[in-house]
Amino acid sequence: MANMAVKLAKVVGDRTAKVLAEELGLESLEDLLRHYPRRYVMRGELTDIEALIEGEEVTIMARIEKVTVKRIPGRKGGILEVIVSDGRAKLILTFFNQAWRTKDLREGREGLFAGKVGVFKGKRQLSHPDYLLIPEGDNKEEAVSDFAGKYLPVYPATKKLPSWKVAQCIRLGIDSMGEVAETLPDQYRSALGFPTMVEAIKQVHLPNSLAEADLARERLTFDEALTMQLFLLSRKNEIKKQRTKLRKRVNKEGILAKFDSRLPFELTAGQKRVSAQIEGDLYGSSPMFRLLQGDVGSGKTIVALRAMLAIIDSGGQAALLAPTEVLAQQHFKNFQKLLGDLALQGMLGTAEFSTRISLLTGSTPSSDRGEILRATKSGEIGILIGTHALLSEGVEFGDLALLVIDEQHRFGVEQRDVLRNRSEFPPHVLVMTATPIPRTVAMTVFGDLDVSTLDELPLGRSPIQTHVIAANEKPQFLDRAWKRVLEEVARGQQAYVVAPRISATDSSDFSRFGLTSEELAIARRLSGEADSEEVKGKYSVEELFPQLRDEALKGARVSALHGRMSATEKEETMSRFSAGEIDVLVSTTVIEVGVDVPNASIMVIMDADRFGVSQLHQLRGRVGRGNIPGLCLLVTNTGSDSPAMARLEAVARTTDGFELSRLDLEQRREGDVLGIAQSGATSHLRLLRVIRDEEVISRARTVAEQILDSDSELLSNTALLDEVDKLRQEERATYLEKK
Ligand code: ADP
Ligand code: MG
Repeated sequence: MANMAVKLAKVVGDRTAKVLAEELGLESLEDLLRHYPRRYVMRGELTDIEALIEGEEVTIMARIEKVTVKRIPGRKGGILEVIVSDGRAKLILTFFNQAWRTKDLREGREGLFAGKVGVFKGKRQLSHPDYLLIPEGDNKEEAVSDFAGKYLPVYPATKKLPSWKVAQCIRLGIDSMGEVAETLPDQYRSALGFPTMVEAIKQVHLPNSLAEADLARERLTFDEALTMQLFLLSRKNEIKKQRTKLRKRVNKEGILAKFDSRLPFELTAGQKRVSAQIEGDLYGSSPMFRLLQGDVGSGKTIVALRAMLAIIDSGGQAALLAPTEVLAQQHFKNFQKLLGDLALQGMLGTAEFSTRISLLTGSTPSSDRGEILRATKSGEIGILIGTHALLSEGVEFGDLALLVIDEQHRFGVEQRDVLRNRSEFPPHVLVMTATPIPRTVAMTVFGDLDVSTLDELPLGRSPIQTHVIAANEKPQFLDRAWKRVLEEVARGQQAYVVAPRISATDSSDFSRFGLTSEELAIARRLSGEADSEEVKGKYSVEELFPQLRDEALKGARVSALHGRMSATEKEETMSRFSAGEIDVLVSTTVIEVGVDVPNASIMVIMDADRFGVSQLHQLRGRVGRGNIPGLCLLVTNTGSDSPAMARLEAVARTTDGFELSRLDLEQRREGDVLGIAQSGATSHLRLLRVIRDEEVISRARTVAEQILDSDSELLSNTALLDEVDKLRQEERATYLEKK
């Protein structure tokens, strides 16, 4: 009987173990048994190809009739086309750049093919299907045993390891699996109606019925969520146990009171509630670790600033970490404006209670830098705003009491810990997110933080109107859009025009797919999306800028802004726009987050289909920030019934950031979702999907809380403690790697 940690060579032999390690990264028996099937197929039941419905996930048993490789001119690789049949109807299987599969996919062979039914040029196809071929010749014996059970597990196949080979290894693994420690205490297991760990592992690989497979999978998914929640909650408890410097509340006389008395508006009920939560933490004995989330424009910045002022009143310092130079600049300017003479300490015209705020970024001249570092260390600077430069060696605070991190998703967990670890007392940490996050994602990604949510927009804010403009079908609508921009300008308002690329030759916007533009075009065509030329995107800042300035927007003061300009140029352009000296800013997404020019009332987003849903929502949040209604026009050349159009219509339909963020996350790969936190824990999640498995996560959270309530160190459940420790080690390893 083998232990789960045993090396695979002992279970499947040296040669196979080597292949499993190389192809799938599986080293131990545990790794192997945790390599779960993607799905199951029923033996001996041929699917009627004629009856397949477009858009459905299907698995069919069929025979290969014809195999061709179509070359793409001037490129390696090509499109592999395999025609399969059930004896009556035919179906085309397409593989992009995978001609090596012809080794297995040969005329006359039979097997199972699984994928989603698409239609291309009127013919039904499966693009990149999984398949399980019935082995031929010498392997007939194996074939019989592979197809022995009624439900066959289908594993992700690789070049050297077809699904059936993996299945064989797993059967060996299950045979040699001895006692497996039960992690889930009986009381919870029976309440949830789950099988034991051993049963679950057996049943997920070799189920007797689909219901049994489902339940096994549910239990294993729950296990992952539970470990994750225990990990996060115990980290949260550890933070709560830390001690920080006790700070005194200054009620009436101080910079915060002064600031409040001058605020031109009333705080919303939400802002008051969240501020009270934060202040409760700031005067407590353990460091705050809190997430502040709210939709674009919900007024997070004011809340954060008030927390910083409370800290200054109590004698401490605050730091604000922003993800980009533009945003750091913007915060700095904004704070100066909001604070007025309250931020002029050490200068003439100082108010009674005042402080000094400074900006430190990569492009701060070294002469200024020295003085800023000195004043930061001496404590003269009350608020230091900056980018990653704040994290560099040599930045020391006299008494850092509060660290505010803006737009967390651009920062890794490790970075947020750098400053925490650099002071005598751990500072309070307030994390502000750029996008609202669905509850269970917050629970998973930020599960060790307390969460405060601003759920309303300030009164009097007029909602943004959003319209989609199909420029290819209705070019006259685009002309109307430019007229509309000119009207706004004539009325004294300002406008943004956003394009996905800096220059025409810039293909950087494809990088997020990891494909070249050409590959993307082919991939899209294969998946039945819009045809080639259009997908490249038509617009770039460098082309649009002169066109708009000289033609469509002639007469308006137009300027360009993008990431390849120098920091000084960017800053200058941004402040001229803020000051109203520029009417129309043609830019890339450098303005995506945080930029706050209340006089801007209209935004035109070119090639809007090139942007993610949350990104569009963030972008349009830049307009309608004052008391004039905002208008956002999404210009696209995508097909009217394409998925991209459906996304744009969803953005136009709702201004609820939470709903859009869900939609966005549903369309992203899981790694990207969790990548927000860059957590090392992602490799632990094999089955759990944070959006799909909301209910599982909520239940796991509750069970984790109950378990920790009665046994905060997990002393009575070493099996579970082991699992949590594994996660801890993974997280630590990732942290070290990234340093
Ligand atoms: P967020 O950072 O959440 O996107 P901001 O803090 O930048 O939002 O606030 C958006 C705009 O609303 C700013 O111009 C800000 O001055 C203004 N604002 C904030 N709170 C209020 C309020 N309670 N009433 C009116 N306007 C507000
Ligand atoms: Mg903001």
